[in-house]
Amino acid sequence: MKAVAVVPGQAGSLHLREVPRPRAGDVPGGRGVLVKVLRVGVDGTDKEINQAEYGRAPEGDDFLIIGHESFGVVVETGPSVGELRPGDYVVATVRRPGKSFYDTIGLQDMTLDAVYYERGINLRHGYLTEYYVESPDYLVKVPRSCKDVGVLLEPTSVAEKGIAQAYEIQRRLRLWQPRRAVVMGAGTLGLLATMALRMRNLDVTTFGLKTPPYLNSELIEAIGARYVSTRALPLEMAAREFGPFDLIFEATGNAGVVFDAAANLGKNGVLVLTSITGGNGKIEVPAARINLDFVLGNKVMVGTVNAHREHFEQGASDLAKCAAEYPGWLERLLTHRVSGLDGHQEMMRLLTSGEGAIKIVVEVAQG
Ligand code: BGC
Ligand code: ZN
Repeated sequence: MKAVAVVPGQAGSLHLREVPRPRAGDVPGGRGVLVKVLRVGVDGTDKEINQAEYGRAPEGDDFLIIGHESFGVVVETGPSVGELRPGDYVVATVRRPGKSFYDTIGLQDMTLDAVYYERGINLRHGYLTEYYVESPDYLVKVPRSCKDVGVLLEPTSVAEKGIAQAYEIQRRLRLWQPRRAVVMGAGTLGLLATMALRMRNLDVTTFGLKTPPYLNSELIEAIGARYVSTRALPLEMAAREFGPFDLIFEATGNAGVVFDAAANLGKNGVLVLTSITGGNGKIEVPAARINLDFVLGNKVMVGTVNAHREHFEQGASDLAKCAAEYPGWLERLLTHRVSGLDGHQEMMRLLTSGEGAIKIVVEVAQG
């Protein structure tokens, strides 16, 4: 079968290759689920992997099959799989357990290990291929009503984990009733975080750079959130008008924004950081003021990466809720479609230059 792969460490090595088709029997104990890949989403991580800034091949191979945002249909199950059946739509989680204590209790997204195993990213092959096999422990069923947008579940799970972490942390307050949330960044993750927060009925202000209206600002307003361009209204002024902010979700990819967000968080508030920033950039910040406000205001700042099963399940339920409340909204996020694995070069071209792209999806097969 065909697969889209890179040679890690070699920039621009994206290629199509022939690999053996996996079988349900490849997973021990009769726990294999053979999944036919229907659609795969791509993001900045895939671009960085092709630029050789990220990503390692599984041991014994010199190539890495990319693709970590999967959507597929079960075609065969091993004799000891009771939780899924052929015909079920599924999305696979990304990270696999390493050795630390957290990995042994199913929280590999919280691993203490220096190396981590992520399908399509690091040391494990991904899903940009025709079939993959996996244990049902790492597969999440997608409601049939979300069939056309299920490919958004993996990035949604990243937003869900960040929000879940905030609620978990805020149990320190005995009763936390957040009312106003901010999302910094109106890209794919910012849009999905806006959606997830709206599904919890919060008043959401999402900040982007661009002057509205444009597709992303329209999408944000279509689900009852507010779009603000930081060019028109800096966060500090917006906080006076629409704050105080109980939760700020940072998803701009710009480390400098973190400190601006910290400086404008409400008392008892929580700031969730999700941007995977490269480089060694330095900026000047009002450290004493930010620190004083954090101390006197009992504020929290938390970093979050990846997601585990629970967050995928919450994501599936929010996608279904959103699809019911705002029909067609999630489909509008799928701005660019590439047909077939053969379209991998076009996929990378869109990822590198795709002006206005929200989610680029490879249509691997019909089903
Ligand atoms: C993926 C996450 C992953 C992270 C770090 C992101 O693009 O969506 O699942 O943990 O990259 O590798
Ligand atoms: Zn990703």
